[in-house]
Amino acid sequence: MSRWAARRRPEHSDHPLAGFKLAHPMLSADGQRAGFSGVTVGRGHVYLAVDDAICVQGGRHACPSRWCDCGFYCFHEIGAARDLACEPDHRQAVLLEIAASGRYRRYELGLRYARQRVRSVHLSRCDCGLPASGFADTGSGSTGWRQLLPTCAACVGARPRLDTAAFARLAGHGVTVTADAPPAPALSADGQVAVLGAEMALLQARLDDLQARLEAFTRHGDADAG
Ligand SMILES: [Zn+2]
Ligand SMILES: [Zn+2]
Repeated sequence: MSRWAARRRPEHSDHPLAGFKLAHPMLSADGQRAGFSGVTVGRGHVYLAVDDAICVQGGRHACPSRWCDCGFYCFHEIGAARDLACEPDHRQAVLLEIAASGRYRRYELGLRYARQRVRSVHLSRCDCGLPASGFADTGSGSTGWRQLLPTCAACVGARPRLDTAAFARLAGHGVTVTADAPPAPALSADGQVAVLGAEMALLQARLDDLQARLEAFTRHGDADAG
């Protein structure tokens, strides 16, 4: 058998293969179940902590089909998931540690596969920069599901809040939820000081300019009066 023919076949694993991915945390309309929705392929479809892939294109084939882009996706490396989290559309996503099993196909950075167990959920930082301690309703979602947003206790305001332990309980299957967000961008301390310094310099330049104009205006006024 040629190498090419061997590669076309999906592989199969009975034991779990570790991977990492991004997802949006979701809460069912009745508040009884927590799930996840994809950030790229299959966005809009909600899956549970332990679930089987369905063809989101409506195909009747087994996932992941060679002729389709369906199935769960994961990266081999946590760094690839964190890289994707830098994109503006994915800033509100959480990072999942998963175990893939069943039929799977390899792609450059990871796997496309049939069965998934979510092991742990790692929250991104709140918009304000503090570590998130729970979830708020984003006001977005899909039929039967509300999309949640990781937030700190201060920023949730009057909105209903779901804490991390409650989300873990509703997700079930021993899922853990942690707020160990990756370190804040390096520009947080020194960068902000540098930006502030530049703004102060600009403000000072404008003040100098204003003062020069005032002086010129005053001199002109004096000349008129004299
Ligand atoms: Zn498909
Ligand atoms: Zn906050």
